[in-house]
Amino acid sequence: ACLDRIRSLDGRVKACLTVLEDRALEKAREVDGALARGEDPGLLSGVPVLVKDNLCTVGTRTTCGSRILGDWEPPYDATAVRLLKEAGAILLGKTNMDEFAMGSSTEHSAFGPTRNPWDPERVPGGSSGGSAAGVAAGFAPLALGSDTGGSIRQPAAFCGIQGLKPTYGLVSRYGLVAYASSLDQVGPLAREVGDLALGMDVIARPDPLDATSCREERPRFLDAVHTDNLKGLRIGVLGGFDDSAVEEPIRKALVLAARYCQDAGALLSEVRLPLSLEYGLASYYILAPAEASSNLARFDGVRYGSAEEASCLEDLYLRTRGADFGPEVKRRILTGTYALSSGYYDAFYLKAQKARRAIVREFRQVFGQVDAILTPTAPTRAFRQGEHLDDPIRMYLGDAFTLPANLAGLPALSLCAGIAEGLPTAVQILGPWRKDQRLVRIGVMLE
Ligand code: GLN
Repeated sequence: ACLDRIRSLDGRVKACLTVLEDRALEKAREVDGALARGEDPGLLSGVPVLVKDNLCTVGTRTTCGSRILGDWEPPYDATAVRLLKEAGAILLGKTNMDEFAMGSSTEHSAFGPTRNPWDPERVPGGSSGGSAAGVAAGFAPLALGSDTGGSIRQPAAFCGIQGLKPTYGLVSRYGLVAYASSLDQVGPLAREVGDLALGMDVIARPDPLDATSCREERPRFLDAVHTDNLKGLRIGVLGGFDDSAVEEPIRKALVLAARYCQDAGALLSEVRLPLSLEYGLASYYILAPAEASSNLARFDGVRYGSAEEASCLEDLYLRTRGADFGPEVKRRILTGTYALSSGYYDAFYLKAQKARRAIVREFRQVFGQVDAILTPTAPTRAFRQGEHLDDPIRMYLGDAFTLPANLAGLPALSLCAGIAEGLPTAVQILGPWRKDQRLVRIGVMLE
């Protein structure tokens, strides 16, 4: 059924870069066979999944939405992908994304934009836009994305589904093509919060192949799904900032979400995050490009892609990096290299690191007073294709509410809050470090 849906709709949505039709059917038959023999094929047996194209899949082209990797087929699976497969999930395909996960609209893909299933004139958000649009269009009930500054949550919000950015270190980054390693985190997108929990129970595992993976056992996320109240939870509603840039339907959704929390027994208060809102965006857009400029140095025309005829090393770099990276990736590499250069290191990189520390401290203090924070996911609903394409700063400004969670390594859930004038609205719930399960509990109560 999912493959039929992809066949009939993906010509318009363009969520998938690769569809693994034959292999998926073969795997489905295997799972059927295992069930018939009375074996337990796992928690996700027979569940079709989509995976963002920056997660390595053995023997299946992995492009990162870029031309520079050519037809590269990874020789191994990312840990999160391996765990899905071991739990019986069926990999249906790889999804479109902004090149190297740099963007908020999936318009920066070398393979053309993905369309928002609610309105094809609008973007699905990004960078995990293919995963979000695919789930929203009914291609699969579950998808993986990656979130460095909002790339799971904002597309989930724009497409009317749910998305979780786990605590940094909860899901292995092994096999995730690095964008900004200290911020990157793999996580699930689904139509229901319960399915996010199911996905997390499969992919959130300690992994010796990722040095930043936390070693402790994870809680059982599904336990949090059976919730019928929020008694005793202290929920902070973000206040004290100029919300005139937040669209009216999103402001209304926040008021309603707060009221539902209260009706379910939570205690409400107003909280402020002045440092996160004032410095989050600026420090992210120094630190993420700085890390990216280093991570993307490996795409040198030798190891990946087509080895061009070149007269010398510099010529090789110019040909491959010049031709095969898109404009946004080049912009980030240039910004990052500049911020790291010896003359400007203290002024930009070091200052941004200090701001990051201050943001971490701010959250620690606020989470001394409340158990979770309610904020918008993004200030707007899905915008029009092309609307921000030649104004990168405006595109970046839309990330203000999502970036702080990455800077502080915290879990954050984007929750669909209904449809206003034909477009999905969403709210975000932020939690303290490693309290991802609490977000599932609140999400289940609010959805
Ligand atoms: N939109 C942000 C950026 O362009 C976040 C991207 C992400 O989370 N991968 O960097």
